[in-house]
Amino acid sequence: MQKAFLSGLMMEQPLLVSEILSHAQRCHASTEIVSRLWSGEIVRTSWGEMAKRSAQLAQALQAEGVDIGSGKRIATLAWNGARHLELYYAVPSMGAVLHTLNPRLFHAQLIYIIQHAEDEIIFVDPHLLPFASALDRALGSVKKWVALCDANELTGILAQFSVQNNALGLSCAALKGLQDYESFIAPFSGEMSWPELPEQMACGLCYTSGTTGDPKGVLYSHRSTVLHALASALPDVKNLSARDAALPVVPMFHVNAWGIPYSAGIVGCKLILPGPRVDGDSLFELLDLEGATLTVGVPTIWMLLLETMRQHGRKPFKLERISVGGAACPPALSDPFIQEFGIEVNHGWGMTETSPVGSLSKPRNTTSTVAASTLHHRHGRPLFGVQMEIVDEQGRALPHDGKATGELLVKGHWVANNYFGAHKENAIPPGEWFHTGDVANIDTEENIQIIDRTKDMIKSGGEWISSIALENAAMEHPEVQEAAAIGLPHPKWGERPLLLVVRRERGGEVDESDQANDVLTQGILAIMAKNVARWWLPNAVIFVQSLPRTATGKLYKITLRDQYRDFIFPPEQLP
Ligand code: ADP
Repeated sequence: MQKAFLSGLMMEQPLLVSEILSHAQRCHASTEIVSRLWSGEIVRTSWGEMAKRSAQLAQALQAEGVDIGSGKRIATLAWNGARHLELYYAVPSMGAVLHTLNPRLFHAQLIYIIQHAEDEIIFVDPHLLPFASALDRALGSVKKWVALCDANELTGILAQFSVQNNALGLSCAALKGLQDYESFIAPFSGEMSWPELPEQMACGLCYTSGTTGDPKGVLYSHRSTVLHALASALPDVKNLSARDAALPVVPMFHVNAWGIPYSAGIVGCKLILPGPRVDGDSLFELLDLEGATLTVGVPTIWMLLLETMRQHGRKPFKLERISVGGAACPPALSDPFIQEFGIEVNHGWGMTETSPVGSLSKPRNTTSTVAASTLHHRHGRPLFGVQMEIVDEQGRALPHDGKATGELLVKGHWVANNYFGAHKENAIPPGEWFHTGDVANIDTEENIQIIDRTKDMIKSGGEWISSIALENAAMEHPEVQEAAAIGLPHPKWGERPLLLVVRRERGGEVDESDQANDVLTQGILAIMAKNVARWWLPNAVIFVQSLPRTATGKLYKITLRDQYRDFIFPPEQLP
């Protein structure tokens, strides 16, 4: 029998997404939410207005048969924008589950995911209607599509599609139950009180992007979402406050835009949602115009922004901090933000299964200025609520000395313990660790460093080579825009690295002759040799126009390994 204990005498209230919404409505009603549409037009609303429209949306969904607390999956196929934000709040707050779909996935993957999740209604950006129409026929569970626009825009865009291609226009118009968003919510008052749901109830669903296998659904709870949003806003994480204007470049269709939409509601900061235009010029302009203080996203985005900032010779005028994560960010990319423009760069680690934020690089009171300037070369220390460990192949804990490397394990309040639809027996028992499939070391100050994904490490002569370390080293060469290292079979060593390089564009003719390539290759290898062991150096360097990326902007190494499967290393270049 459980021993009786002295109960605290505090009110009990479940942690719910609706609580964030109600708080933002009460305390930050006039704070702006700015969206840039596909057309480039900038639209302004506020937390107060957004909260009322979220309630209208919940009433509309109820009228459509989505009962309060039903747990039904309501999907979105959309870029970052205010209507998407209304879905972020309305769907969980009414006790349904928001399932964000990634429009950059292949059709077959999306069809698999939508069917697996049994989505009933999908909210779609109007410009993605042709994409939706190609999916619709294969989808049994979907009863209704709602286009995120008003009636005029929908009519206009359907007419535009018909002019381009009559069959396309017709198939878009024939999407099941197609209606525009504004007409969908207009009949409803927005007067409602949100239900008191159990905090363990599911509120969001996001599938891993399938970089390393079939997509798997991670089902977030209200409790995990609220705790993650609270912790992510802390000073040693995003340092988010009501004085900030945050621009999440990271898409709202991937892992809750790293929790920013919910953290922003908690602190009541201005939110700037960039829509589909995330090229360097568009981002610079929006960051500048709207006075963004913080922006977050994957490294590829910062590559584009850095080029634009260099062209302008300045940073967007209020920009103070950039959070980068989701994929390895080479120091050659992050250092210039700090050194040339005085912007703070925080490098974090996370995954879909960790909601996603697990760690972030921030100095401590005792960190010297010199050490602080390179802290972002590692991936930060765990935030409160997350624990991390590294283990060897036998599962034994390794020392936290910054040298020993092993598989990274995590546990915590917002770490998944099973996948949606998986057998209960597969659940991680309470207190046990989630195996990330990443290889890392942890230093004496608990900062982690991701060495590689287990599947991307290169095993040469029985020893491991980090593909990320090779890429970072190659990017130190000024002519290297991007680099990817992959392991390929080798008769003597088992595997050896091949390096694929995208040259930096400088305008004008590029000399791509064999001779010029040889000179550049030698230059790259010489720079790399300063940062990695000689036996790590790639056996061959190939120059390519671009590198394949996954739907979430990570290097797609499976495709690369496939593409270069038959490549034979030139024997004379063996180190
Ligand atoms: P998927 O696993 O489908 O690619 P995720 O977005 O969940 O989708 O990816 C999580 C993975 O991204 C991590 O396991 C890790 O390998 C990688 N990752 C995340 N952040 C970083 C980082 N800062 N540096 C290197 N790799 C990272």
